Amino acid sequence: MTKKTNQDIGLVWFKNDLRLHDNESLCNAIATGMPLLFLYCIDSNLYRPLALGFRKAGANRAIFLKQALEDLKTRLENKGAHLVIEYGMVPAIIEKYVNNYSITHIFAEQEYAWEELLQMNAVKKKITGKAELLTYWGKTLYHKDDIPFKINEIPLTSKAYRIPTGNQTEVREPFLEPSEIGGVVTINSKSFPSFKTLGFNEKEIAAVETFVAGGETEALKRLHYYTFESKLLTGYRWSRNKSLGMDYSSKLSPYLALGSLSPRIIYQKVKQYEGLVKKNQSTWWLVFELVWRDFFTFKGMRMGNAIFKTEGFTKKKVDFENDKNLFERWCNGNTGLPFVDAHMRQLNKTGYMSNRGRVNCASFLVHDYKIDWTWGAAYFESKLIDYDVSANWMNWHMQAYQIWYTNPIHQSLKYNAKEFIQQWVPELSKINDERIYIPWHEESSQIELNGYPKPAEIFSKWTRSINKILAALRDT
Ligand code: FAD
Repeated sequence: MTKKTNQDIGLVWFKNDLRLHDNESLCNAIATGMPLLFLYCIDSNLYRPLALGFRKAGANRAIFLKQALEDLKTRLENKGAHLVIEYGMVPAIIEKYVNNYSITHIFAEQEYAWEELLQMNAVKKKITGKAELLTYWGKTLYHKDDIPFKINEIPLTSKAYRIPTGNQTEVREPFLEPSEIGGVVTINSKSFPSFKTLGFNEKEIAAVETFVAGGETEALKRLHYYTFESKLLTGYRWSRNKSLGMDYSSKLSPYLALGSLSPRIIYQKVKQYEGLVKKNQSTWWLVFELVWRDFFTFKGMRMGNAIFKTEGFTKKKVDFENDKNLFERWCNGNTGLPFVDAHMRQLNKTGYMSNRGRVNCASFLVHDYKIDWTWGAAYFESKLIDYDVSANWMNWHMQAYQIWYTNPIHQSLKYNAKEFIQQWVPELSKINDERIYIPWHEESSQIELNGYPKPAEIFSKWTRSINKILAALRDT
Protein backbone atom coordinates (compact mmCIF):
# COMPACT_ATOMS: atom_id res chain seq x y z
CA MET A 1 0.00 0.00 0.00
CA THR A 2 1.27 3.48 -0.82
CA LYS A 3 1.98 5.83 2.09
CA LYS A 4 -1.17 6.97 3.87
CA THR A 5 -2.07 10.67 3.95
CA ASN A 6 -4.77 12.66 5.76
CA GLN A 7 -6.79 12.88 2.55
CA ASP A 8 -7.07 9.12 2.16
CA ILE A 9 -10.55 7.62 1.94
CA GLY A 10 -11.10 3.88 1.73
CA LEU A 11 -13.77 1.81 0.09
CA VAL A 12 -14.49 -1.65 1.48
CA TRP A 13 -15.84 -3.56 -1.49
CA PHE A 14 -17.69 -6.63 -0.23
CA LYS A 15 -18.08 -9.53 -2.64
CA ASN A 16 -18.24 -13.18 -1.55
CA ASP A 17 -16.97 -12.22 1.91
CA LEU A 18 -20.23 -11.08 3.50
CA ARG A 19 -19.05 -11.24 7.08
CA LEU A 20 -17.38 -9.27 9.81
CA HIS A 21 -15.49 -12.22 11.34
CA ASP A 22 -12.24 -13.44 9.77
CA ASN A 23 -12.32 -10.83 7.05
CA GLU A 24 -8.80 -9.71 6.25
CA SER A 25 -9.66 -6.92 3.81
CA LEU A 26 -12.14 -5.42 6.28
CA CYS A 27 -9.66 -5.64 9.18
CA ASN A 28 -6.87 -4.10 7.12
CA ALA A 29 -9.12 -1.29 5.95
CA ILE A 30 -10.12 -0.48 9.53
CA ALA A 31 -6.51 -0.68 10.71
CA THR A 32 -5.48 2.15 8.33
CA GLY A 33 -7.70 4.53 10.30
CA MET A 34 -8.95 6.21 7.12
CA PRO A 35 -12.66 7.03 6.76
CA LEU A 36 -14.36 4.10 5.06
CA LEU A 37 -17.27 3.57 2.72
CA PHE A 38 -18.83 0.08 2.63
CA LEU A 39 -20.22 -1.07 -0.71
CA TYR A 40 -21.72 -4.15 -2.33
CA CYS A 41 -22.46 -4.24 -6.08
CA ILE A 42 -25.12 -6.53 -7.52
CA ASP A 43 -24.00 -7.30 -11.03
CA SER A 44 -26.84 -6.58 -13.47
CA ASN A 45 -25.55 -9.45 -15.65
CA LEU A 46 -26.13 -11.97 -12.90
CA TYR A 47 -29.84 -12.57 -13.36
CA ARG A 48 -29.94 -12.42 -17.15
CA PRO A 49 -31.78 -15.20 -19.05
CA LEU A 50 -29.51 -17.73 -20.78
CA ALA A 51 -30.09 -19.37 -24.17
CA LEU A 52 -30.71 -22.66 -22.30
CA GLY A 53 -34.01 -21.24 -21.04
CA PHE A 54 -33.24 -20.19 -17.47
CA ARG A 55 -31.49 -17.35 -15.70
CA LYS A 56 -27.77 -17.34 -14.98
CA ALA A 57 -28.76 -16.95 -11.32
CA GLY A 58 -32.36 -17.58 -10.34
CA ALA A 59 -34.79 -16.42 -7.67
CA ASN A 60 -33.49 -18.74 -4.91
CA ARG A 61 -30.08 -17.15 -5.18
CA ALA A 62 -31.46 -13.61 -5.32
CA ILE A 63 -33.48 -14.14 -2.13
CA PHE A 64 -30.59 -15.76 -0.30
CA LEU A 65 -28.26 -12.92 -1.31
CA LYS A 66 -30.77 -10.36 -0.10
CA GLN A 67 -30.91 -12.04 3.32
CA ALA A 68 -27.12 -12.17 3.57
CA LEU A 69 -26.76 -8.50 2.63
CA GLU A 70 -29.49 -7.32 4.97
CA ASP A 71 -27.79 -9.13 7.81
CA LEU A 72 -24.42 -7.62 6.89
CA LYS A 73 -26.00 -4.16 6.72
CA THR A 74 -27.48 -4.57 10.21
CA ARG A 75 -24.20 -5.84 11.62
CA LEU A 76 -22.30 -2.91 10.10
CA GLU A 77 -24.89 -0.40 11.29
CA ASN A 78 -24.65 -1.82 14.82
CA LYS A 79 -21.00 -0.79 14.72
CA GLY A 80 -21.75 2.73 13.51
CA ALA A 81 -21.09 2.00 9.85
CA HIS A 82 -23.38 1.45 6.84
CA LEU A 83 -23.74 -0.71 3.75
CA VAL A 84 -24.56 0.74 0.36
CA ILE A 85 -26.04 -1.84 -2.01
CA GLU A 86 -25.95 -0.87 -5.68
CA TYR A 87 -27.25 -2.65 -8.77
CA GLY A 88 -25.70 -2.24 -12.23
CA MET A 89 -22.45 -2.78 -14.12
CA VAL A 90 -19.87 -3.34 -11.39
CA PRO A 91 -16.89 -1.44 -12.89
CA ALA A 92 -19.11 1.61 -13.53
CA ILE A 93 -20.46 1.54 -9.95
CA ILE A 94 -16.98 1.38 -8.46
CA GLU A 95 -15.80 4.18 -10.72
CA LYS A 96 -18.77 6.34 -9.69
CA TYR A 97 -17.99 5.91 -5.98
CA VAL A 98 -14.26 6.49 -6.50
CA ASN A 99 -15.04 9.75 -8.31
CA ASN A 100 -17.87 10.99 -6.08
CA TYR A 101 -16.20 10.23 -2.76
CA SER A 102 -12.55 10.82 -3.76
CA ILE A 103 -11.71 7.24 -2.80
CA THR A 104 -7.98 6.60 -2.67
CA HIS A 105 -7.90 2.93 -1.60
CA ILE A 106 -10.17 -0.03 -2.31
CA PHE A 107 -10.02 -3.07 -0.03
CA ALA A 108 -11.43 -6.32 -1.42
CA GLU A 109 -11.13 -10.09 -1.43
CA GLN A 110 -9.00 -11.65 -4.17
CA GLU A 111 -10.86 -13.43 -6.95
CA TYR A 112 -10.00 -16.81 -8.38
CA ALA A 113 -12.48 -17.62 -11.15
CA TRP A 114 -12.57 -16.57 -14.77
CA GLU A 115 -15.48 -14.12 -15.03
CA GLU A 116 -14.71 -12.57 -11.66
CA LEU A 117 -11.06 -12.02 -12.64
CA LEU A 118 -12.18 -10.33 -15.85
CA GLN A 119 -14.43 -8.09 -13.80
CA MET A 120 -11.58 -7.21 -11.44
CA ASN A 121 -9.46 -6.23 -14.45
CA ALA A 122 -12.27 -4.04 -15.77
CA VAL A 123 -12.49 -2.36 -12.35
CA LYS A 124 -8.74 -1.83 -12.27
CA LYS A 125 -8.87 -0.09 -15.67
CA LYS A 126 -11.59 2.29 -14.44
CA ILE A 127 -9.73 3.34 -11.30
CA THR A 128 -6.12 3.43 -12.47
CA GLY A 129 -4.50 6.68 -11.43
CA LYS A 130 -7.28 7.46 -8.97
CA ALA A 131 -7.40 4.70 -6.38
CA GLU A 132 -5.25 1.78 -5.32
CA LEU A 133 -6.87 -1.68 -5.30
CA LEU A 134 -5.67 -3.81 -2.37
CA THR A 135 -6.80 -7.42 -2.42
CA TYR A 136 -6.55 -10.20 0.16
CA TRP A 137 -6.97 -13.95 -0.15
CA GLY A 138 -9.89 -15.17 1.94
CA LYS A 139 -11.77 -18.05 0.35
CA THR A 140 -10.01 -21.20 1.46
CA LEU A 141 -9.10 -23.06 4.64
CA TYR A 142 -5.39 -23.06 3.80
CA HIS A 143 -4.12 -19.72 2.60
CA LYS A 144 -3.13 -19.73 -1.08
CA ASP A 145 0.34 -18.47 -0.16
CA ASP A 146 0.94 -21.20 2.44
CA ILE A 147 0.30 -24.39 0.47
CA PRO A 148 3.38 -26.24 -0.81
CA PHE A 149 2.40 -25.82 -4.47
CA LYS A 150 2.34 -22.96 -6.94
CA ILE A 151 -1.08 -22.69 -8.58
CA ASN A 152 0.23 -23.85 -11.95
CA GLU A 153 1.66 -26.94 -10.25
CA ILE A 154 -1.40 -28.00 -8.23
CA PRO A 155 -1.52 -31.81 -8.46
CA LEU A 156 -4.20 -33.40 -10.56
CA THR A 157 -5.37 -35.80 -7.86
CA SER A 158 -6.77 -34.74 -4.52
CA LYS A 159 -4.54 -37.15 -2.60
CA ALA A 160 -1.37 -35.73 -4.14
CA TYR A 161 -2.56 -32.30 -3.05
CA ARG A 162 -4.04 -33.20 0.32
CA ILE A 163 -1.24 -35.17 1.95
CA PRO A 164 1.70 -32.76 1.40
CA THR A 165 -0.56 -29.80 2.15
CA GLY A 166 -1.81 -31.33 5.40
CA ASN A 167 1.73 -32.23 6.46
CA GLN A 168 3.37 -28.93 5.60
CA THR A 169 0.71 -26.26 6.10
CA GLU A 170 -0.91 -24.72 9.16
CA VAL A 171 -4.36 -23.18 9.01
CA ARG A 172 -3.89 -19.48 9.81
CA GLU A 173 -5.59 -17.97 12.85
CA PRO A 174 -8.87 -16.31 11.87
CA PHE A 175 -9.11 -12.51 12.05
CA LEU A 176 -11.28 -11.36 14.94
CA GLU A 177 -14.47 -9.48 14.23
CA PRO A 178 -13.63 -5.75 14.63
CA SER A 179 -14.96 -4.54 17.98
CA GLU A 180 -15.64 -1.11 16.50
CA ILE A 181 -15.43 0.64 13.19
CA GLY A 182 -13.82 4.04 13.67
CA GLY A 183 -14.04 6.59 10.88
CA VAL A 184 -16.74 6.18 8.29
CA VAL A 185 -17.74 8.28 5.28
CA THR A 186 -20.99 10.18 5.87
CA ILE A 187 -23.47 8.28 3.77
CA ASN A 188 -26.71 6.44 4.44
CA SER A 189 -27.08 2.71 3.91
CA LYS A 190 -28.84 1.73 0.72
CA SER A 191 -31.04 -1.36 0.79
CA PHE A 192 -31.33 -4.30 -1.55
CA PRO A 193 -33.32 -3.27 -4.64
CA SER A 194 -36.74 -4.76 -5.37
CA PHE A 195 -36.77 -8.16 -7.05
CA LYS A 196 -38.62 -6.45 -9.90
CA THR A 197 -35.58 -4.24 -10.45
CA LEU A 198 -33.49 -7.40 -10.75
CA GLY A 199 -35.89 -8.65 -13.44
CA PHE A 200 -37.94 -11.18 -11.42
CA ASN A 201 -41.71 -11.40 -11.49
CA GLU A 202 -43.80 -12.05 -8.38
CA LYS A 203 -44.52 -15.65 -9.39
CA GLU A 204 -40.83 -16.53 -9.53
CA ILE A 205 -40.23 -15.09 -6.07
CA ALA A 206 -43.37 -16.64 -4.55
CA ALA A 207 -42.35 -20.10 -5.85
CA VAL A 208 -39.24 -20.15 -3.64
CA GLU A 209 -39.24 -22.08 -0.38
CA THR A 210 -36.48 -20.89 1.92
CA PHE A 211 -34.07 -23.68 2.79
CA VAL A 212 -31.95 -21.82 5.32
CA ALA A 213 -32.01 -18.13 6.15
CA GLY A 214 -29.02 -16.23 4.81
CA GLY A 215 -26.43 -14.08 6.54
CA GLU A 216 -23.54 -14.24 8.98
CA THR A 217 -25.78 -14.29 12.05
CA GLU A 218 -27.58 -17.41 10.83
CA ALA A 219 -24.30 -18.93 9.64
CA LEU A 220 -22.73 -18.68 13.09
CA LYS A 221 -25.91 -20.08 14.66
CA ARG A 222 -25.91 -23.05 12.28
CA LEU A 223 -22.25 -23.75 13.00
CA HIS A 224 -22.92 -23.72 16.71
CA TYR A 225 -26.03 -25.88 16.26
CA TYR A 226 -24.28 -28.55 14.18
CA THR A 227 -21.41 -28.77 16.65
CA PHE A 228 -21.84 -27.97 20.34
CA GLU A 229 -25.63 -27.57 20.53
CA SER A 230 -26.81 -30.78 18.82
CA LYS A 231 -23.51 -32.69 18.68
CA LEU A 232 -24.61 -33.92 15.25
CA LEU A 233 -21.01 -33.56 14.14
CA THR A 234 -20.16 -36.75 16.03
CA GLY A 235 -22.23 -38.80 13.56
CA TYR A 236 -21.46 -36.81 10.38
CA ARG A 237 -19.20 -39.48 8.85
CA TRP A 238 -22.10 -41.95 8.83
CA SER A 239 -24.98 -39.61 8.02
CA ARG A 240 -23.44 -37.35 5.39
CA ASN A 241 -24.70 -39.34 2.39
CA LYS A 242 -28.38 -38.99 3.21
CA SER A 243 -30.85 -36.50 1.72
CA LEU A 244 -33.79 -36.13 4.10
CA GLY A 245 -34.03 -33.30 6.62
CA MET A 246 -31.58 -30.74 7.92
CA ASP A 247 -29.35 -32.76 10.19
CA TYR A 248 -27.50 -35.40 8.15
CA SER A 249 -24.88 -32.86 6.99
CA SER A 250 -23.69 -29.45 8.11
CA LYS A 251 -25.64 -27.24 5.61
CA LEU A 252 -22.79 -24.76 5.86
CA SER A 253 -22.25 -24.61 2.08
CA PRO A 254 -24.72 -21.74 1.40
CA TYR A 255 -22.92 -19.64 4.02
CA LEU A 256 -19.47 -20.53 2.71
CA ALA A 257 -20.56 -19.67 -0.84
CA LEU A 258 -21.38 -16.05 -0.01
CA GLY A 259 -18.63 -15.84 2.55
CA SER A 260 -21.06 -15.39 5.44
CA LEU A 261 -18.89 -17.98 7.15
CA SER A 262 -15.15 -18.48 6.89
CA PRO A 263 -13.73 -22.01 6.57
CA ARG A 264 -11.13 -21.12 9.23
CA ILE A 265 -13.91 -20.45 11.75
CA ILE A 266 -15.39 -23.88 10.98
CA TYR A 267 -11.95 -25.43 11.45
CA GLN A 268 -11.47 -23.62 14.75
CA LYS A 269 -14.88 -24.83 15.96
CA VAL A 270 -14.11 -28.43 14.93
CA LYS A 271 -10.82 -28.31 16.82
CA GLN A 272 -12.60 -26.99 19.94
CA TYR A 273 -15.17 -29.76 19.55
CA GLU A 274 -12.45 -32.36 19.30
CA GLY A 275 -10.97 -31.07 22.54
CA LEU A 276 -14.19 -30.72 24.50
CA VAL A 277 -16.69 -33.21 23.05
CA LYS A 278 -15.34 -35.86 20.70
CA LYS A 279 -12.56 -36.41 18.21
CA ASN A 280 -13.42 -39.12 15.71
CA GLN A 281 -13.70 -39.97 12.00
CA SER A 282 -16.54 -37.45 11.66
CA THR A 283 -14.55 -34.46 12.89
CA TRP A 284 -11.71 -35.50 10.58
CA TRP A 285 -14.16 -35.88 7.68
CA LEU A 286 -15.70 -32.43 7.96
CA VAL A 287 -12.24 -30.87 7.70
CA PHE A 288 -11.47 -33.29 4.84
CA GLU A 289 -14.47 -31.88 2.95
CA LEU A 290 -13.19 -28.34 3.45
CA VAL A 291 -9.87 -29.50 2.04
CA TRP A 292 -11.74 -30.85 -1.02
CA ARG A 293 -13.28 -27.41 -1.41
CA ASP A 294 -9.79 -25.88 -1.30
CA PHE A 295 -8.46 -28.43 -3.76
CA PHE A 296 -11.20 -27.68 -6.29
CA THR A 297 -10.58 -23.96 -5.88
CA PHE A 298 -6.84 -24.24 -6.50
CA LYS A 299 -7.14 -26.85 -9.25
CA GLY A 300 -9.87 -24.77 -10.91
CA MET A 301 -7.49 -21.79 -10.83
CA ARG A 302 -4.84 -23.90 -12.50
CA MET A 303 -7.24 -24.98 -15.25
CA GLY A 304 -8.58 -21.48 -15.98
CA ASN A 305 -11.64 -21.23 -18.18
CA ALA A 306 -11.26 -24.82 -19.47
CA ILE A 307 -13.44 -25.83 -16.50
CA PHE A 308 -16.47 -24.27 -18.23
CA LYS A 309 -15.96 -25.95 -21.60
CA THR A 310 -17.63 -29.13 -22.84
CA GLU A 311 -14.31 -30.88 -23.54
CA GLY A 312 -13.09 -29.80 -20.10
CA PHE A 313 -9.45 -29.67 -19.11
CA THR A 314 -8.98 -33.33 -19.99
CA LYS A 315 -9.90 -32.42 -23.60
CA LYS A 316 -12.19 -35.44 -23.89
CA LYS A 317 -14.24 -35.78 -27.03
CA VAL A 318 -17.71 -37.09 -26.20
CA ASP A 319 -20.60 -37.02 -28.65
CA PHE A 320 -23.37 -35.78 -26.41
CA GLU A 321 -26.86 -36.23 -27.86
CA ASN A 322 -28.28 -33.08 -26.21
CA ASP A 323 -31.99 -33.89 -26.50
CA LYS A 324 -33.68 -30.64 -25.36
CA ASN A 325 -36.86 -32.45 -24.38
CA LEU A 326 -34.94 -34.78 -22.06
CA PHE A 327 -33.02 -31.83 -20.60
CA GLU A 328 -36.30 -30.13 -19.78
CA ARG A 329 -37.59 -33.31 -18.11
CA TRP A 330 -34.44 -33.44 -16.00
CA CYS A 331 -34.63 -29.75 -15.05
CA ASN A 332 -38.27 -30.05 -14.03
CA GLY A 333 -37.88 -33.28 -12.08
CA ASN A 334 -40.00 -35.32 -14.52
CA THR A 335 -37.59 -38.02 -15.65
CA GLY A 336 -39.70 -40.84 -14.18
CA LEU A 337 -36.77 -41.80 -11.94
CA PRO A 338 -38.12 -40.93 -8.48
CA PHE A 339 -34.68 -40.65 -6.86
CA VAL A 340 -33.54 -38.13 -9.49
CA ASP A 341 -36.85 -36.25 -9.64
CA ALA A 342 -37.16 -35.84 -5.87
CA HIS A 343 -33.75 -34.21 -5.74
CA MET A 344 -34.36 -31.98 -8.77
CA ARG A 345 -37.68 -30.81 -7.37
CA GLN A 346 -36.05 -30.02 -4.05
CA LEU A 347 -33.38 -28.02 -5.89
CA ASN A 348 -35.98 -26.09 -7.88
CA LYS A 349 -37.98 -25.19 -4.81
CA THR A 350 -35.28 -24.57 -2.21
CA GLY A 351 -32.01 -23.99 -4.07
CA TYR A 352 -30.34 -26.85 -2.19
CA MET A 353 -29.65 -30.51 -2.92
CA SER A 354 -27.68 -33.07 -0.91
CA ASN A 355 -24.32 -34.24 -2.18
CA ARG A 356 -25.83 -37.68 -2.86
CA GLY A 357 -28.52 -36.04 -4.96
CA ARG A 358 -26.00 -33.93 -6.89
CA VAL A 359 -23.88 -36.96 -7.73
CA ASN A 360 -26.90 -38.95 -8.95
CA CYS A 361 -28.58 -36.15 -10.89
CA ALA A 362 -25.31 -35.19 -12.60
CA SER A 363 -24.44 -38.77 -13.47
CA PHE A 364 -27.95 -39.42 -14.79
CA LEU A 365 -27.90 -36.34 -17.03
CA VAL A 366 -24.49 -37.07 -18.49
CA HIS A 367 -24.34 -40.86 -18.70
CA ASP A 368 -28.00 -41.86 -19.13
CA TYR A 369 -29.47 -38.87 -20.97
CA LYS A 370 -26.16 -38.16 -22.74
CA ILE A 371 -26.54 -34.44 -22.33
CA ASP A 372 -23.60 -32.02 -22.27
CA TRP A 373 -22.50 -31.72 -18.65
CA THR A 374 -22.05 -27.94 -19.00
CA TRP A 375 -25.83 -27.61 -19.44
CA GLY A 376 -26.35 -29.34 -16.11
CA ALA A 377 -23.63 -27.29 -14.43
CA ALA A 378 -25.24 -24.09 -15.74
CA TYR A 379 -28.60 -25.25 -14.39
CA PHE A 380 -27.10 -25.92 -10.95
CA GLU A 381 -25.40 -22.52 -11.12
CA SER A 382 -28.77 -20.94 -11.71
CA LYS A 383 -30.45 -22.69 -8.80
CA LEU A 384 -27.99 -23.50 -6.01
CA ILE A 385 -27.95 -21.09 -3.07
CA ASP A 386 -24.53 -22.55 -2.28
CA TYR A 387 -23.32 -21.98 -5.84
CA ASP A 388 -19.56 -21.80 -5.79
CA VAL A 389 -17.74 -21.52 -9.11
CA SER A 390 -15.08 -24.13 -8.51
CA ALA A 391 -17.13 -26.52 -6.32
CA ASN A 392 -19.87 -26.62 -8.93
CA TRP A 393 -17.93 -26.77 -12.17
CA MET A 394 -15.15 -29.02 -10.87
CA ASN A 395 -17.62 -31.49 -9.36
CA TRP A 396 -19.58 -31.58 -12.61
CA HIS A 397 -16.38 -32.04 -14.58
CA MET A 398 -15.49 -34.93 -12.30
CA GLN A 399 -18.91 -36.56 -12.74
CA ALA A 400 -18.62 -36.21 -16.52
CA TYR A 401 -15.06 -37.38 -17.07
CA GLN A 402 -13.28 -38.64 -13.98
CA ILE A 403 -15.69 -40.90 -12.15
CA TRP A 404 -17.62 -44.05 -12.84
CA TYR A 405 -21.35 -44.22 -13.48
CA THR A 406 -23.68 -43.85 -10.47
CA ASN A 407 -26.77 -46.03 -10.77
CA PRO A 408 -29.79 -44.07 -9.46
CA ILE A 409 -31.90 -47.20 -8.90
CA HIS A 410 -29.23 -48.88 -6.84
CA GLN A 411 -28.60 -45.70 -4.88
CA SER A 412 -32.27 -45.12 -4.04
CA LEU A 413 -32.39 -48.53 -2.38
CA LYS A 414 -28.93 -48.26 -0.79
CA TYR A 415 -29.72 -44.90 0.79
CA ASN A 416 -33.27 -45.87 1.72
CA ALA A 417 -34.76 -42.82 0.00
CA LYS A 418 -38.43 -43.75 0.39
CA GLU A 419 -39.37 -40.94 2.75
CA PHE A 420 -37.39 -38.39 0.79
CA ILE A 421 -39.20 -39.37 -2.42
CA GLN A 422 -42.56 -39.28 -0.64
CA GLN A 423 -41.80 -35.72 0.44
CA TRP A 424 -40.74 -34.36 -2.94
CA VAL A 425 -42.79 -36.44 -5.39
CA PRO A 426 -46.34 -36.09 -4.04
CA GLU A 427 -47.72 -38.27 -6.87
CA LEU A 428 -45.98 -41.20 -5.17
CA SER A 429 -46.45 -40.17 -1.54
CA LYS A 430 -48.86 -43.02 -0.77
CA ILE A 431 -46.45 -45.78 -1.84
CA ASN A 432 -45.04 -47.25 1.33
CA ASP A 433 -42.75 -49.96 0.02
CA GLU A 434 -39.84 -50.39 -2.39
CA ARG A 435 -42.10 -50.05 -5.43
CA ILE A 436 -41.62 -46.31 -4.96
CA TYR A 437 -38.16 -46.71 -6.53
CA ILE A 438 -39.51 -48.34 -9.75
CA PRO A 439 -43.07 -47.07 -10.19
CA TRP A 440 -43.08 -47.93 -13.93
CA HIS A 441 -42.44 -51.65 -13.28
CA GLU A 442 -45.20 -54.20 -13.76
CA GLU A 443 -44.82 -55.02 -10.08
CA SER A 444 -46.21 -51.51 -9.44
CA SER A 445 -49.13 -51.86 -11.88
CA GLN A 446 -51.71 -51.84 -9.09
CA ILE A 447 -50.53 -48.46 -7.89
CA GLU A 448 -52.13 -45.14 -8.79
CA LEU A 449 -49.30 -42.96 -10.20
CA ASN A 450 -51.31 -39.73 -10.35
CA GLY A 451 -49.79 -38.68 -13.65
CA TYR A 452 -46.18 -39.39 -12.64
CA PRO A 453 -44.28 -40.04 -15.92
CA LYS A 454 -42.57 -43.22 -17.08
CA PRO A 455 -38.82 -43.05 -17.80
CA ALA A 456 -37.87 -42.28 -21.41
CA GLU A 457 -35.84 -45.49 -21.44
CA ILE A 458 -35.28 -48.39 -19.05
CA PHE A 459 -31.60 -49.23 -19.37
CA SER A 460 -30.38 -52.83 -19.14
CA LYS A 461 -27.62 -51.62 -16.76
CA TRP A 462 -30.39 -51.10 -14.17
CA THR A 463 -31.64 -54.70 -14.30
CA ARG A 464 -29.56 -55.99 -11.38
CA SER A 465 -30.72 -53.17 -9.12
CA ILE A 466 -34.34 -53.60 -10.17
CA ASN A 467 -34.06 -57.29 -9.31
CA LYS A 468 -32.68 -56.38 -5.88
CA ILE A 469 -35.68 -54.14 -5.30
CA LEU A 470 -38.03 -56.94 -6.34
CA ALA A 471 -36.24 -59.28 -3.96
CA ALA A 472 -36.55 -56.75 -1.14
CA LEU A 473 -40.28 -56.47 -1.93
CA ARG A 474 -40.70 -60.23 -1.73
CA ASP A 475 -38.96 -60.21 1.66
CA THR A 476 -41.35 -57.64 3.14
P1 FAD B 1 -21.20 -31.12 4.22
O1 FAD B 1 -21.21 -32.56 3.86
O2 FAD B 1 -21.59 -30.75 5.58
O3 FAD B 1 -19.71 -30.61 3.90
C1 FAD B 1 -19.11 -29.49 4.56
C2 FAD B 1 -18.56 -28.55 3.54
O4 FAD B 1 -17.53 -29.16 2.78
C3 FAD B 1 -19.58 -28.10 2.52
O5 FAD B 1 -20.34 -27.03 3.04
C4 FAD B 1 -18.71 -27.70 1.35
O6 FAD B 1 -18.20 -26.41 1.51
C5 FAD B 1 -17.55 -28.67 1.43
N1 FAD B 1 -17.78 -29.79 0.52
C6 FAD B 1 -18.41 -30.96 0.79
N2 FAD B 1 -18.39 -31.76 -0.29
C7 FAD B 1 -17.74 -31.08 -1.26
C8 FAD B 1 -17.40 -31.37 -2.61
N3 FAD B 1 -17.72 -32.54 -3.19
N4 FAD B 1 -16.78 -30.42 -3.31
C9 FAD B 1 -16.43 -29.23 -2.76
N5 FAD B 1 -16.72 -28.90 -1.50
C10 FAD B 1 -17.36 -29.82 -0.76
N6 FAD B 1 -20.73 -27.48 -3.23
C11 FAD B 1 -20.81 -26.15 -3.11
O7 FAD B 1 -20.50 -25.62 -2.04
N7 FAD B 1 -21.23 -25.38 -4.15
C12 FAD B 1 -21.58 -25.91 -5.36
O8 FAD B 1 -21.92 -25.17 -6.28
C13 FAD B 1 -21.53 -27.33 -5.50
N8 FAD B 1 -21.93 -27.93 -6.65
C14 FAD B 1 -21.84 -29.30 -6.75
C15 FAD B 1 -22.19 -29.93 -7.96
C16 FAD B 1 -22.10 -31.32 -8.09
C17 FAD B 1 -22.47 -31.97 -9.41
C18 FAD B 1 -21.66 -32.09 -7.01
C19 FAD B 1 -21.57 -33.60 -7.12
C20 FAD B 1 -21.32 -31.49 -5.80
C21 FAD B 1 -21.38 -30.11 -5.66
N9 FAD B 1 -21.02 -29.46 -4.45
C22 FAD B 1 -21.08 -28.10 -4.37
C23 FAD B 1 -20.43 -30.23 -3.33
C24 FAD B 1 -21.41 -30.75 -2.26
O9 FAD B 1 -22.49 -31.41 -2.86
C25 FAD B 1 -21.93 -29.62 -1.36
O10 FAD B 1 -20.85 -28.86 -0.89
C26 FAD B 1 -22.67 -30.18 -0.16
O11 FAD B 1 -23.74 -30.99 -0.58
C27 FAD B 1 -23.16 -29.04 0.69
O12 FAD B 1 -23.90 -29.46 1.80
P2 FAD B 1 -23.29 -29.36 3.26
O13 FAD B 1 -22.76 -28.02 3.53
O14 FAD B 1 -24.31 -29.90 4.20
O15 FAD B 1 -22.06 -30.36 3.11
